[in-house]
Amino acid sequence: MRDNVAARASGTWNPLTLALLASLWLATAGNWPLWRSLLALPENAGSRGVLFAAGFAAMVAALTFALLALLAWRRSIKPAIAFFLVSAAACAHFMGSYGVVIDPTMMTNVVQTNVTEARDLLNLRLLGSFLLIAGLPLLWLMRRPLQRAGWRAQAGRNLLGLVAGLGVLAALLFALFADLSATMRNHKQIRYQISPLNAFYSTGALLRQAQASPSGPPVAIGLDARLLPPAAGSRPPLFLLVVGETARADRFALNGYARPTNPRLSALDVVSFRDVTSCGTSTAASLPCMFSHLGREAFGARSQDHENLLDLAHRAGLAVLWLDNQSGCKGLCDRVQAVGASDGAPPTLCSDGECLDGALLHGLDERLAALPAERRAHGVLLVMHQMGSHGPAYWRRSPADGKPFQPECETNALQQCDVQALGNAYDNSIVYTDRILAGAIDWLQGQRARFEPTMLYVSDHGESLGEKGLYLHGLPYSVAPREQKHVPMIVWTPSAQRTQCLASLRDQPLSHDHIFHSVAGALGIQASEYRADLDVFATCRAP
Ligand SMILES: [Zn+2]
Repeated sequence: MRDNVAARASGTWNPLTLALLASLWLATAGNWPLWRSLLALPENAGSRGVLFAAGFAAMVAALTFALLALLAWRRSIKPAIAFFLVSAAACAHFMGSYGVVIDPTMMTNVVQTNVTEARDLLNLRLLGSFLLIAGLPLLWLMRRPLQRAGWRAQAGRNLLGLVAGLGVLAALLFALFADLSATMRNHKQIRYQISPLNAFYSTGALLRQAQASPSGPPVAIGLDARLLPPAAGSRPPLFLLVVGETARADRFALNGYARPTNPRLSALDVVSFRDVTSCGTSTAASLPCMFSHLGREAFGARSQDHENLLDLAHRAGLAVLWLDNQSGCKGLCDRVQAVGASDGAPPTLCSDGECLDGALLHGLDERLAALPAERRAHGVLLVMHQMGSHGPAYWRRSPADGKPFQPECETNALQQCDVQALGNAYDNSIVYTDRILAGAIDWLQGQRARFEPTMLYVSDHGESLGEKGLYLHGLPYSVAPREQKHVPMIVWTPSAQRTQCLASLRDQPLSHDHIFHSVAGALGIQASEYRADLDVFATCRAP
C-alpha cells in the first residue's frame, strides 16, 4: 500500500490499481442494461431489491477484478482493459437497445454474420455507446504512466489481487445466496447479461463446441435411400422449399392478422398452417435443425453432426439446388449445388451487395435447365433462402412500389420508432414475401407440363417487435417469447383434392421437426431415417 501511495505521488500507477478502477467502471456504467433488467424485476422492487442489485454489482466487480489481476502487468494491463471496455461497450449497446442477451447461440450468429447484416446493425447509438463506455475511460487510461516494478513484486501483488477478488466474490455469494439463486433460477437470461464476461464465456463455449464436434465429414444419412417407383404416366416431382427469414405467423392475414398482408396468396388455393413452432430463435440455430432428420430435442443433444435433407435427396438420385439471398446456407449445401441469387440478377433488384427477394425468382428456367438431366428426370428439390423480414432494417426488405403501410420506421435504432411505424415497415416486408411466394407459385404452374410441383414455405424463426421491451430475436429458447418461435408455414399444390385434405390439418400443432420428413415423403424418398408420423403430407397423398 505504501508503495502505491509513493508511486502515485511520483505520478505513476501500478497495473493492479488500474485493474481495480476498470473493474468498478465495467461493473457499473459498463453493465447498465443488466442493472436496468435486474431493477425492473417485480421481486426487486423496494429497498431490498436495490440492496441486492448493489451486492450483485460488487460481485461483478470482484470477478472482473480477479480476471484483470491475472493480466495486471506493465505491458499487458492497458491492452487488456481496452479489450474489456470495447467488448462491454458493444454488449451494452446490443443488450440495451434490442433486449437481446449474449449467449453462445448469439455468439454463433455474430461469428456467422456477413458485412451487409453487420452494416444494418451499425448506427449512431452504437457509436455513442463506444464513446461513453469505452472511449472516455480509455482516453484517461492512455495518459497514465505505469509504475516499474520487479516481476516478483508484481506477481505477488497480482496474486493478492486475485485472492482478494475471489474472496469478496465468495463472501457476497454466501451473503446473497437466497436472492441470487431465486433470481438465477427464475430469470436464466440474467447471467448472459453480465458484460463483458458473457461475451468471453460465450466465445469460449463456442470454441469448446467446435473442438468437441467431430472433425471430418458429418455422419452419412440415407445410405439405403431410394425413390418410390413412379406411378404410370406420372411426372417427376419439383419441390420448392422456401426458407423464410424472421417472419412471424401472427403477421400473416392468412392466419387471421387484421391487416391485408397476404393480398396475393389469399387469392390462391394455398393452405396456411397456423400453429407451427420453430426449432431455434436464430438463423444459425434453426437452419441446421430444420434440415436434420433428428428433430429439435435429438438435434440439441447430438454428439455428432449428420448429413441433411439435401444430402438425402442427392443420394436418392434427385437434382438439388440451393438458391441463396442471405448469409449463406450455414454448411447445409456443402455437398450439393448452390448459387447466390445476386448471380445474374438485374441491377434494379440489387444494391450495395444486397438483393431484394425478387432476385430469387430471376432466371429460374435457366437454373432448372442447368441441373444434371438424368437427375432432373427423377425429380428436383429447389431451396430458396430468403432475406424475408431480416431486421432491424425492415424498410429495406420491400421495394418502393410495395409499401402499402405508411409511414415506415427508417432507422436501425428500433426503440426510437413508434410502434405503428415499426409495424408498418415490418408488415410491408410480409407483403413483399406474399408477392414472392405468389410469383413462385406462378412459376411452378408453368412447370406442370413436365413436373408435379409443390411449394412449401416456412420461416426459420419469428421476431420481437417491441413486445415486453424486446426487439429482434435470438433469446435463449427456454425464455424466448412466442413471437420469436411462432412461424408461418404455407403449402401450395395444384391438386385441389390434396389441398382440401391439407386444409383440414391446418390447426394441428406442427414444428420444424416435420420439415425433413414431409419433404422427403413428398419427393417419394424411402430411407431408414424417414418417419411417416412426422410427414404432414402422408395422410393426404393422392391415392
Ligand atoms: Zn433467421
